[in-house]
Amino acid sequence: MISCRDAIERLWDYLDGELSPADTEAVAAHLAECARCYPQYRFEFAFLELLVRNGERMSPPPRETVDRLRRLIGV
Ligand SMILES: [Zn+2]
Repeated sequence: MISCRDAIERLWDYLDGELSPADTEAVAAHLAECARCYPQYRFEFAFLELLVRNGERMSPPPRETVDRLRRLIGV
């Protein structure tokens, strides 16, 4: 399994659908299984996913939200 740091670093591209299928699966598997990441950040992830799904492709999720996740998790 990839590390929490790797998962957060790839979150942006993951949500934007720009990861390779293997990386996408790795991030999804991490979020589904990691006891550290998922309970703590599920609301942030849900928020970002909502933006991606409902927002326009020209308006990606706010970068500062991803940066905040990185600070929270200490990477
Ligand atoms: Zn994790």
